[in-house]
Amino acid sequence: MQKSTTIVLHKGKHQSVLRQHPWVFSGAVHRVEGNPAEGELVAVHSNSGQCLGWGHYQQGGSIRVRMLSFQEKVPGKAFWKQKIESAWKLRKAAGLTGRDDLTAFRLVFAEGDGLPGLIADYYDGTVVMQCHTAGMYLQREALAAALHQVLGDGLKAVYDKSADTLHEVSGIKAENAYLFGESQGSILIREHGHEFLVDFEQGQKTGFFLDQRDNRQLLANYARGRSVLNTFSYTGGFSVYAAAAGARSVHSVDSSKPAIQLLEQNMGLNGFQGDTYTVEVGDVFEHLKGMSQDLADLIILDPPAFAKGLKARHNALMAYKRLNLMAMNKLKPGGVLFTFSCSQVVTTDLFEGIITAAGIESGRAFTILHRLSQPADHPVGLYHPEGRYLKGLVLWVG
Ligand code: SAH
Repeated sequence: MQKSTTIVLHKGKHQSVLRQHPWVFSGAVHRVEGNPAEGELVAVHSNSGQCLGWGHYQQGGSIRVRMLSFQEKVPGKAFWKQKIESAWKLRKAAGLTGRDDLTAFRLVFAEGDGLPGLIADYYDGTVVMQCHTAGMYLQREALAAALHQVLGDGLKAVYDKSADTLHEVSGIKAENAYLFGESQGSILIREHGHEFLVDFEQGQKTGFFLDQRDNRQLLANYARGRSVLNTFSYTGGFSVYAAAAGARSVHSVDSSKPAIQLLEQNMGLNGFQGDTYTVEVGDVFEHLKGMSQDLADLIILDPPAFAKGLKARHNALMAYKRLNLMAMNKLKPGGVLFTFSCSQVVTTDLFEGIITAAGIESGRAFTILHRLSQPADHPVGLYHPEGRYLKGLVLWVG
């Protein structure tokens, strides 16, 4: 990396950077010395001229710089390798690497791994990258090289899937491409011994929702003998666990036909044939509206992020409330509700507040059995609480 532009902060605005918060907001910037390009590596200085660290410059949106390092020294050649190495080490410490029964995990979770703007999921040797900033996208070859250095022969391919994630304002038109290796079609992964096909090229996000791994395992404790309704099922993560745990029935609903088709394949892979479960391509709200009461005694609500930003938050909260109220009304007595929100702008408190409001409106007696979050391969920096995005509650209705 080369030395480039300097961003000088307003007086007092260095505090949050000193506390290692990775975002420098536009309001904190006093002046820009030079003319940085989108995604360029820039130095961040306090008003009195102290170098606080280095980060990727971004023109659009409210975040001007995403910090990569909090040291005076410019990040050197080995920087990416060191970061990937430390991300791998964390997964190893969390017991996620070197296993036969678990072959997929998130290898890089943006700020949580000190790499703002980068997501990288590991699927049995294939890494699917999504860049959310121009800075990371411009470094994609270096990142692929670093992945190769760290994973060695264990790396089969690196697929960059940034076309949809790169912010529009960056002005960069990204194309999805293999940076290393070549297409092998869908990949078979194992999660706690269950098998799943991941279609990372055509599927949503990086292909599989790894963040629900621990919560799916918890579901297995409750699914035995129950009639399970898995809404927003995608390719059947929760459905497979429920069936394997001995659910009486499993009904999965998703609006995406390819997702439901893959769900059927995944059920088959795990030994469940079409007569042991049911599927529906359709809208969850419509399904819940038309569903008769007392049909399900375990309902999973795992909707997509209803709010992508603060402006959309109010409407999103209303949608969460409507959805949860419908499910709460339909649960059999003695039923269990697994309910989630993956909207980063909906905080834990807001989420619990909304679920409480829905519960009150249902008039039924709910109790909290578990408060859920994201697993260790989606780490949250202690100084960056914004990294926590997945919230869940397991409720019991008497
Ligand atoms: N629980 C899943 C992940 C859910 S992702 C897992 O463990 O893998 C959210 C899913 O909701 C996507 O598959 C998307 O196709 C689906 N979806 C979005 N809006 C929907 C709607 N209104 N009705 C039904 N499905 C919807």
